[in-house]
Amino acid sequence: LVHAQGVTKSFHGNQVLKGVDVDVHAGEVVVVIGPSGSGKTTLVRTLNHLEPADGGLIEVNGQLLGSKPGPQGRTVALSDKDISLQRRNVGMVFQRFNLFPHKTVLENVTLAPVQLRQMSGAEAEAFGMELLGKVGMSAHAKKYPHQLSGGQQQRVAIARALAMKPSVMLFDEPTSALDPELVQEVLSVIADLAHEGITMVIVTHEMKLARDVADWVVFMEDGVVGQQGPPESVFGANADPRIKRFVQTVS
Ligand code: ATP
Repeated sequence: LVHAQGVTKSFHGNQVLKGVDVDVHAGEVVVVIGPSGSGKTTLVRTLNHLEPADGGLIEVNGQLLGSKPGPQGRTVALSDKDISLQRRNVGMVFQRFNLFPHKTVLENVTLAPVQLRQMSGAEAEAFGMELLGKVGMSAHAKKYPHQLSGGQQQRVAIARALAMKPSVMLFDEPTSALDPELVQEVLSVIADLAHEGITMVIVTHEMKLARDVADWVVFMEDGVVGQQGPPESVFGANADPRIKRFVQTVS
C-alpha cells in the first residue's frame, strides 16, 4: 500500500534522510522507532508529501506521490490540487492536535468530508458520531476544543483524520505533547484501531505500544533504516545491541 524507496531529504545542506526504504502492506501496523533526530518525523511527513522528498520514490495505493506518468516514460510534477487529492488518502495525526478552535468537536470531524463534497451534511454527521464513538468522545460532540483535555483533543484529531476514510493513517508521536496521565487513553484508542486492521504508520517513543500493536518495526538511525523486522526480532533476546541500548534509554 505504501512503498518508499531510496527516499532522501535535506534541510539547508543537512541530509536528514539518506535513502530510506519502507513498505507498508494493507492492514499492517508499522511502528517507527529510533533516537531523537534520526529522521522519523521527516520520514512520515514525506509519506504525506508535507515535506516533498528530494530523491527516491514514494507510492501510495500504486500512485507516485507528487508526480504522475508523463510522455516518453518520464514523470511530471502534479499540481497543488492533485497533490491535495492524493493527500486525502493519507490521514495524519500530529504531535499537536491543531483542532479548529471555533468549531465544535463534531464540526471538526465533519468539516473536511462536507467541504470536499465526499458526503452530505447528514451523512457526515452520522459518520462523525460513529467515529467519535470509536474514540470514546460521543458525549463531547457539542463541546469546543478548549473545553477538552489534551488527550480528548488528540482523540478528536484521530476521528477527524479517519473521517476522510484514508487508506493509511500516519501518527507522528501522537502522545509526546500530552501530560503523562493522558497518554494511556490515546494509546488505547490507537491500539483499538490497530486491532481493527486499519493500515497505520506510527512514529512513537512508546515501546509498549510498539510491542503491542506492531506487525513490523522500523528502527531509524541517522537518516537510514538501521534495522527492520517483526517485533519479536527487533525486541527479542537476540535483538541488535544498538536497538537494545535504545530501548533501554526510552523505557
Ligand atoms: P524526534 O524523535 O526528536 O522527533 P526525529 O527522529 O523525528 O526526532 P526529525 O524530526 O525528522 O527527527 O528531524 C531530523 C533532523 O532534521 C533534525 O536535526 C531536525 O533539526 C532537522 N529538521 C527537521 N525538520 C526540519 C525543517 N523543517 N527545517 C530544518 N531542519 C529540520
